[in-house]
Amino acid sequence: MRLKIVQTGEPVLRRAARELTSAEIAEPATRGLIEWMRETMRDAPGVGLAAPQVGVGLRLAVIEDREDFLRALDPAVLAEREREPVSFQVLINPRITSRSAEEAEFFEGCLSVAGYSALVRRSRRVEVECLDEEGRPRRIEASGWYARILQHEIDHLDGTLYLDRMEPRSFTTTENLTRHWGSMPVASVREALGLKG
Ligand code: ZN
Repeated sequence: MRLKIVQTGEPVLRRAARELTSAEIAEPATRGLIEWMRETMRDAPGVGLAAPQVGVGLRLAVIEDREDFLRALDPAVLAEREREPVSFQVLINPRITSRSAEEAEFFEGCLSVAGYSALVRRSRRVEVECLDEEGRPRRIEASGWYARILQHEIDHLDGTLYLDRMEPRSFTTTENLTRHWGSMPVASVREALGLKG
């Protein structure tokens, strides 16, 4: 089943979601929600989906960066973004336990801000603790695009959108991103937009 992805302005996207209990993780309803979120993410298509985006205020997200998405992209772009395939995974009650001071800045978008993108600066590496769909503790060390996806999805659970972190002058429609900015190094984008360093 495909769920409706709510768009910015919907109050659930601005509320902190609540943690799931171990009893809730074991419930068939939660398993069903995870399955629907997986289908909805793949159908969108997207590389991550957090429960608030489908109107559910729980600390739950799914992520997946599929090889077939990457094959469609320029290898130079993939290398610059440090983007590699990420297998499907479920993050329950995730928490960033450590983040690098070193940051990376790229255009990102969100299924709940459909049709737009902007430059967003995020930590290049993060460590995350969470539970998987069986309620087993997991520790994830991620860098590059994987780290960006994790930060973006965990932000959703705190009611934060990339809009709160973006470089406002870089905000663009997806169409104009493709037309003008997408294949340009970020340093050149910043220069063209009159942004410092
Ligand atoms: Zn998003």
